[in-house]
Amino acid sequence: MQLRKHFGFEAAHVLPHHPGKCGRLHGHSYRFEVVVEGPLQIGGPATGMVIDFDALSAIVKPAVVEKLDHASLNDIMPNPTAEHIALWIWDALHSKLDQLVEIVVWETATACAVVRAQDARAR
Ligand SMILES: [Zn+2]
Repeated sequence: MQLRKHFGFEAAHVLPHHPGKCGRLHGHSYRFEVVVEGPLQIGGPATGMVIDFDALSAIVKPAVVEKLDHASLNDIMPNPTAEHIALWIWDALHSKLDQLVEIVVWETATACAVVRAQDARAR
């Protein structure tokens, strides 16, 4: 079964290779989805769950939200496109979250980047 949980952060960025307005310093209210898949657990407090949503938050908030919120993303990665932000989040989480299968980063209400394991491996 698959679970999705949404998180958000506010951050500034500039795209150094972009010839248009994204080449100027600006900010976004980013949203991202952490997608996990796995069997329902049997036994213990997470019985009947893939993972407890609270446990998922306890992993994602310190590893991602606290690092990217109110940051200048160019201080963290050289070319912070939605694609690179999604890869950065993947890298921050994949070793901590066995069931991770997908990261979706929404830069605006209508535009998102999706990273799955094969995309992370293809770099
Ligand atoms: Zn932008």
